[in-house]
Amino acid sequence: MARDDRPAPFLEISPYVRPPAAPCPALAADLRTEVAIVGGGYTGLSTALALQAQGVEAVVLERDFCGYGASGRNAGHLTPTICKDLPTARMLFGAETAGRLARFADHCVETAEATIRDLGIDCDYNASGNIMAVVHPAQEKRLRQAAETARSIGARMHYLEAGEMRARGLPAAFLSGALEEAGGTLHTGKFVSGLRAAALARGVRIFEGTAVQAIEPGRPALVRTAAGTVSAGRVVLAANAYAGEIAPPGDRQAPLYITLFETAPLSAEQRAALGGWPGREGIYTAHESMESYRLTAQGTIIGGSKDVQYFYDCAPHNHGGPEDARPASVIAAFRARFPELRDLPIAHCWAGWCGFTLNFLPLVGRHPAHDNLFHAIAYNGHGIAQATAMGPLLTDLILGRPNPWTEVICRKPAFMPPKWLRYPAVKAVLGVVNGIDRRMDGRVESGR
Ligand SMILES: Cc1cc2nc3c(=O)[nH]c(=O)nc-3n(C[C@H](O)[C@H](O)[C@H](O)COP(=O)(O)OP(=O)(O)OC[C@H]3O[C@@H](n4cnc5c(N)ncnc54)[C@H](O)[C@@H]3O)c2cc1C
Repeated sequence: MARDDRPAPFLEISPYVRPPAAPCPALAADLRTEVAIVGGGYTGLSTALALQAQGVEAVVLERDFCGYGASGRNAGHLTPTICKDLPTARMLFGAETAGRLARFADHCVETAEATIRDLGIDCDYNASGNIMAVVHPAQEKRLRQAAETARSIGARMHYLEAGEMRARGLPAAFLSGALEEAGGTLHTGKFVSGLRAAALARGVRIFEGTAVQAIEPGRPALVRTAAGTVSAGRVVLAANAYAGEIAPPGDRQAPLYITLFETAPLSAEQRAALGGWPGREGIYTAHESMESYRLTAQGTIIGGSKDVQYFYDCAPHNHGGPEDARPASVIAAFRARFPELRDLPIAHCWAGWCGFTLNFLPLVGRHPAHDNLFHAIAYNGHGIAQATAMGPLLTDLILGRPNPWTEVICRKPAFMPPKWLRYPAVKAVLGVVNGIDRRMDGRVESGR
């Protein structure tokens, strides 16, 4: 069969979520509540569920529908990755803090797994772990050292030699790799829709189609929307990459636009040609700006991630769509890694916004000047586990209860330059990173 090289359709959101058949009503009055949560992704919904379990009334205000943001668009790798990686965490924060971050990241994966189990969410979760794989021998030494460093500070990770990769039936382009034992892959849309359904079933009030325009500090704080206000004892900013458009510290992150694609289902022969991939482990590459691939429960491959985009105004709602996405580069990378699948059509592409910080840690905590305003945003591309773990953590913070992880993750926000300086700085970093990756890809292609 000849390959169909027509451009793959670009989806407005993703193949995994659709606007709900029965949307929650938009806010159309003034109301009072104990906690107002801005944003209906993993962070907002897990927080609403955890508060509700403690008998605290929470209201979720979502601009579009729950799952419209990164929580309905991501690649589905549930990972304990934290910071850029653990060697970077050790370099930035020292071995002891890096070790605590590694344990926190494992705790986040365990919390997400417990959430899936306890709420009975059927989201095709496959607890396979994820593999950071080398695609050229030149990447191997550094990855081995990274895995060793990670192990030395307590991460559950081990190196898979070439023979072990082949014994697992993994695609041949992935030569060897470091296996993150915790976590696996899931269907992102089913997960976020399951959280929404669980919150509604437990009596959480959700307002969809309700854009928050401003949060006015005070006691109570006032959350303003076009058609009503919510006066709340506490407010949680859970709008992730979009938070810069609403309130501080949303502007202390850089929103990056990331492109993904999904193939048509693989035939039995195509899958066999790859080696079978029976464990369906999630794979990312050891590039500076990684590629990600996973074989879904439906037998398709989801991939992408590299060649991320950044825009001067840091305002996601001014951008997004096919002209800002990078389907050609993510599909070219896929074709290079999977020559066995040269005739496999790409079914569709899509893209979404991720919040990044300069120390690669999320922004979690309480507003320094207003102690009833809380936030949890910017998970640096690792939010499935971390954002889901925010529910219990923020609930303890809000209720003033001790929590062993607040000290680890509630930190002073990392320095973020003003926008005029941030733009050339981020573009320069992305330019260097992409240049290194292009050279590596050139070596893979030429066999040097
Ligand atoms: C393409 C892509 C691939 C990714 N892959 C992975 C992966 O494989 N593994 C992983 O761990 N992480 C991944 N991530 C990151 C992960 O998806 C996020 O970290 C996580 O979903 C964050 O959840 P959240 O609830 O904080 O934010 P979001 O899901 O972005 O939710 C924020 C919500 O706020 C709403 N909102 C925005 N403005 C307003 C407003 N004014 N008023 C009210 N509501 C508003 C939005 O509509 C949105 O629903 C990926 C992200 C993207 C974009």
